Amino acid sequence: SVSIGIVGLPNVGKSTLFNALTKAQNAESANYAFCTIEPNKAVVPVPDKRIEKLAELVNPQRVQHSTVDFVDIAGLVAGASKGEGLGNKFLANIRETQAILHVVRCFVDDDVVHVSGSVDPLRDIEVIETELILADVQALENRVERMKKQLKGDKTLAPKIAAAEALLEHLNQGALAATYPDMDNKAVREVLDELRLITAKNMIYCANVDEDGLGEDNEYVTAVRSLAEERGAEFVKISARMEEELVGLEDEEYAEFLESYGVTEAGLEKIIRTGFHTLGLISYFTAGVKEVRAWTIHDGDKAPQAAGVIHTDFERGFIRAEVISYDHYVEHGSEAKCRAEGVLRVEGKEYVVKDGDVVHFLFNV
Ligand code: GDP
Repeated sequence: SVSIGIVGLPNVGKSTLFNALTKAQNAESANYAFCTIEPNKAVVPVPDKRIEKLAELVNPQRVQHSTVDFVDIAGLVAGASKGEGLGNKFLANIRETQAILHVVRCFVDDDVVHVSGSVDPLRDIEVIETELILADVQALENRVERMKKQLKGDKTLAPKIAAAEALLEHLNQGALAATYPDMDNKAVREVLDELRLITAKNMIYCANVDEDGLGEDNEYVTAVRSLAEERGAEFVKISARMEEELVGLEDEEYAEFLESYGVTEAGLEKIIRTGFHTLGLISYFTAGVKEVRAWTIHDGDKAPQAAGVIHTDFERGFIRAEVISYDHYVEHGSEAKCRAEGVLRVEGKEYVVKDGDVVHFLFNV
């Protein structure tokens, strides 16, 4: 499954945020009994009002949301790429993830030691990103060396070596792989896919503030927000400590609480949704009396692939899909009504499933 790795310097609030995410997982744990609980992984339901609305209409025995996996990646300190601290294990864990949530300290608190002595988010980001770049440089250097040895026997490696060397030069200037200008180059893509370079992954910058930083941006938040914008990356502001205390509150209580801080947007929800979006994921729904459920697919997946998420047999034996858009479903209130009103569509194997489609698959076994 796809996952997001949480990184950041020590004492910036990573564990606090991870605890909040874990509590969000456990708040729904009755529905997630199938998940093996791993200490550094939270399988977090993606808040989605649509699925609650569908449940209201269908009144099923069970409701299941889509989920996003967050992995707490501890141990990144300056020097990690040289194997200091938990360096190597850290790097192995982070390679497995598809996106990175970079938590940055934007709160001032003399009781919480800052590893570099002062709050300075841009410097902190640079420290972390330098380590990530160095790790990628190492991976690339190793690969180039190996490919050069193989080149005698396999001349087709030449363009890949050239691509890897060009990427290396880019990284050696202190830049992230994600900003490499020639991303569409086939050899470059191959190298990126094989090595799963860390700095080529999608990045979400997460400014962690005190409760009173939630309203207007402080100077630290402004700096991080601008950097994210410059890079075309996602940005979220959150108070990890507050989220940890608030997780599990009823929606109304929670909203009131946010309002009292002049905030309209729940941070944890935003992180989860941004994560889901950053991974290129969407949800379609199945709505039956046993279960109303969101299924996670990639934006652009066709009907048979989408069916395969439920069961591989559904993909192999795919015949057709009966599809109702979410809006139509809610407007008419049931599958039968939608069928009668002529808004249920029959779609074939080339159909690209849309976010919010309510789908019924027909298949051969
Ligand atoms: P990690 O090392 O990045 O995992 O950081 P932790 O989550 O363990 O947080 C380090 C310390 O900072 C803990 O004592 C937290 O309670 C505290 N902390 C986390 N978020 C905030 C915050 O928004 N404001 C303040 N004042 N302290 C925070």
